[in-house]
Amino acid sequence: MKVSGSWMAHPATQGVCAALVAAGYRALFVGGCVRNALLNVPVADVDIATDALPETVSTIAENAGYKVLPTGIDHGTVTVVAGGIAHEVTTFRRDVETDGRRAVVAFSTRIEEDAMRRDFTMNALYAEADGTVIDPLGGLPDLLARRLRFVGQAEARIREDYLRILRFFRFHAWYGDASEGIDPEGLAACAALSAGIETLSPERVGAEMRKLLAAPDPGPSLAAMAQAGVLARVLPGAEARAVPVLVHLEAARPPHWLRRLAVLGGEDPTDLWRLSRAESRDFGKVRDALHEDLSPAALGWKLGSLAEHVMLARAAMIGMAPPGGWEQEVARGQSAVFPVTAADLMPGLQGPALGARLKALEAQWLQSNLRATKETLLG
Ligand code: ATP
Ligand code: MG
Repeated sequence: MKVSGSWMAHPATQGVCAALVAAGYRALFVGGCVRNALLNVPVADVDIATDALPETVSTIAENAGYKVLPTGIDHGTVTVVAGGIAHEVTTFRRDVETDGRRAVVAFSTRIEEDAMRRDFTMNALYAEADGTVIDPLGGLPDLLARRLRFVGQAEARIREDYLRILRFFRFHAWYGDASEGIDPEGLAACAALSAGIETLSPERVGAEMRKLLAAPDPGPSLAAMAQAGVLARVLPGAEARAVPVLVHLEAARPPHWLRRLAVLGGEDPTDLWRLSRAESRDFGKVRDALHEDLSPAALGWKLGSLAEHVMLARAAMIGMAPPGGWEQEVARGQSAVFPVTAADLMPGLQGPALGARLKALEAQWLQSNLRATKETLLG
């Protein structure tokens, strides 16, 4: 079995592998790139596993003329930048001791040990630089059946790192077989150990949840999370019920995590998931607008590109398709210009009175569904 792809054939990527191999070490693609190549879906980032120690990797890469960043040197990872592509090169590792959050690692020269410390069998696949697949744990049949299974005993693996609970639902959403359902042993372990989620940093939780919510259809995973008591741990008060309706209404639109998040309800995710200032502001706008009764055009004018999220999320939550022609209406609002300016009201009005009058006229204009002209508004 061989994998291929432009990501792999890239001269810079081949160059990084060749430099390690020429120095007598192994250079194996691993994780997402191999998994996705085998599934024929786009490869996001290139991870390389090697038996060379991190300092050795740095020296070899620098001697070959590449830029090296010590991104995760304590965990054995250096980033080798070649041809504008970041390659995460990680030394084979085995986990020796854990506190449920941070693995203490020892380097290894054995690929089997490196495979054993990975989370799921479909993520423990490797490939040589020429694409030849290496499958130390028998993960290939799982991948081809789109079966997400923990490496080893699920409960034990979760106790080592509770983030694996969220990764379980994330990878199921992306790569699992929805008709086969989620792995029962894994689900039971996630349910039993869901309290461990409280120990995770908001950054890690937020990063996983963004990716989960951006899956083509996160509905079944979110339903399983709710059932296992996991959803309530990551977002208290959240409900997964409206998600399948939303995904249906989205039709062919590209998935957007924020839109999915909007229909979950529950507590404000800003601190729980460490949203950025911009994300939190956008989310707040969408959430507030869900409970306002603005027309599609008014939403387009007020929220710009976020209006689409509101229209779809609102429809999903009440379980009714949005009114016909709503997209044209949103677009009309997006390009509309409020016809009254401060200059139209001056010098008769000044200061706070001017502001209040403008606000009132704006409300009137929105009420008219953006149809009222300057003349009618001022007349
Ligand atoms: P993608 O990058 O598409 O999200 P990925 O599989 O590459 O998917 P990463 O988070 O980039 O996921 O991790 C790379 C690999 O490292 C995984 O495939 C897995 O083998 C291993 N890995 C990452 N995080 C963990 C973890 N918390 N526990 C065990 N193994 C992990
Ligand atoms: Mg990756």
